[in-house]
Amino acid sequence: MTITGGCLCGAIRYAITGALGQADNCHCSMCRKAHGAAFSSYALVAPQAWRWTAGAELCARYRSSPGYERVFCPRCGSPLAVLHEGEIMGVTLGTVDGDPGVRPAFHMFVASKAPWFEITDELPCYPAYPPGFGPGG
Ligand SMILES: [Zn+2]
Ligand SMILES: [Zn+2]
Repeated sequence: MTITGGCLCGAIRYAITGALGQADNCHCSMCRKAHGAAFSSYALVAPQAWRWTAGAELCARYRSSPGYERVFCPRCGSPLAVLHEGEIMGVTLGTVDGDPGVRPAFHMFVASKAPWFEITDELPCYPAYPPGFGPGG
């Protein structure tokens, strides 16, 4: 099974071998800014499962917190992935082609939630990271 995706303008494309890991909606202020939205939706990805299939050299990176970089297309602005210590850690669900096969399991950083957005689903909500969050966690 291979999951594919890419940015809005199509310059940058990626492929992921196998299934995606745990997915979440993150309401932190950095995700809200980076995505221009109420929250971000990311799924965890094993670094060895990831490969860039087009435009790898175009990727722009922004270090939003120590050890973490957000990867985005400098041409169209799509946020694509997050790196931890230089390795792929997560993919933005919104850039996946078709069905990513996973669904966000919880909301996190709801303490930073946008005042104009109301969470109306039944998923668990955590004020910051949930217990044990992270690669393999
Ligand atoms: Zn693009
Ligand atoms: Zn966030």
